[in-house]
Amino acid sequence: MSAVDAVLSDLDADLSWERMLYQDLHRHPELSLNENRTAGIVEDQLTKFGYDVQRVGGTGVVGVLKNGSGPTVLARADMDALPVKEATGLPYSSTATATDADGRAVPVAHACGHDMHVTTLLGAAKKMADGKRSWSGTYVALFQPGEEVGRGAKAMIDDGLVRKIPKPDVALAQHVMPGPAGRIGTATGPILSAADSVKVVLYGKGAHGSMPHESVDPVVLAAFVVLRLQAIVSRELEPGTFAVVTVGALQAGTKANIIADRATLLLNLRTYDAAVRDKLVASIARIVKAECDASGSPKAPDIDYYEHYPLTSNSAQANDRVTAAFRRFFGQQAVYEQSPVTASEDFSAIPTAFGIPYTYWCIGGTDPAKYAAAVAHHTVERDIPSNHSTSFAPVIDPTLRIGTETQVVAALSYLANGP
Ligand code: ZN
Ligand code: ZN
Repeated sequence: MSAVDAVLSDLDADLSWERMLYQDLHRHPELSLNENRTAGIVEDQLTKFGYDVQRVGGTGVVGVLKNGSGPTVLARADMDALPVKEATGLPYSSTATATDADGRAVPVAHACGHDMHVTTLLGAAKKMADGKRSWSGTYVALFQPGEEVGRGAKAMIDDGLVRKIPKPDVALAQHVMPGPAGRIGTATGPILSAADSVKVVLYGKGAHGSMPHESVDPVVLAAFVVLRLQAIVSRELEPGTFAVVTVGALQAGTKANIIADRATLLLNLRTYDAAVRDKLVASIARIVKAECDASGSPKAPDIDYYEHYPLTSNSAQANDRVTAAFRRFFGQQAVYEQSPVTASEDFSAIPTAFGIPYTYWCIGGTDPAKYAAAVAHHTVERDIPSNHSTSFAPVIDPTLRIGTETQVVAALSYLANGP
């Protein structure tokens, strides 16, 4: 029997506790950096499985399982939920509410499937502990807080993650996405974009609405800036180069007959290439400053990059190894080449802090029959909820099984004794 088959034998027995755990986590989602209950459960389970467990970065949890000589593999799951009101209609739906960072009461739901990530990594952690005879090396199960706010990986690194655990040789992570459950998407190179959020404050000169000549109107200025920014991707980048510049918020003024003295824009940028990101940053600065000059703005604009997600770009070596192992275990048909997704993640900050290669893959979470019907009717966009939507939730079967198997198969592609 291969090491993978030996470690994954009896998985059916584990799937019953995984199912209960998953439904429990789904009912009890927690906002970013407040994953106290979830972290407690993870800590208890890892301790029970025989891991050396520590808290790192507040609600982050890392379990280390040493099993003789060999490589060290780190597998990461994120734990946080979103301020979203669940509308899946599932019997184990969340009705949770919480207070957000701004003090507002908000509904909370696992609308990005991180409860699936936690459960499948715990499931894999247990199988790795049970199956210690079939592999050697060190397995690290890392449960990261605060992915949705882009601060959790950093919190763990700032709290000394790099010196608190053995240096891994490779890092692994997965995400559940819309797509037929049972299918696994892998890629070499960029798989998720880098993202930046930017706050731009444009200064004008306030005046009575009837006296525009007394003003520098920040609303008109902001309108020019918004339009001009659209020309970065369409006119300044080579056709086919991927980039997104979105103005997600535009705020100015309070009343019809008052010309405000400032306008605030919130921008979101996505790129797959650091040079393209540098280009966007430079173009935004140039355009914003030039439009302020053109309007006679009395004060230089403020441009503040306040949220950054690094690029997720898989190592060819790690991806090849893991993809080959997936193909052997799940069959050629189950594994497809994932084209880059425009979403972003902070996972890569962890391997970057260690200076190690990594690979990140996607698993489908949609009922395969439902997905096939939507494809046939060209209604995927309409009928298949995407991550962060109020009706997003992966089907438990077979996602739970596949997600547990992918974590074990990927780890054993480095750690297995024998074939
Ligand atoms: Zn998300
Ligand atoms: Zn997510």
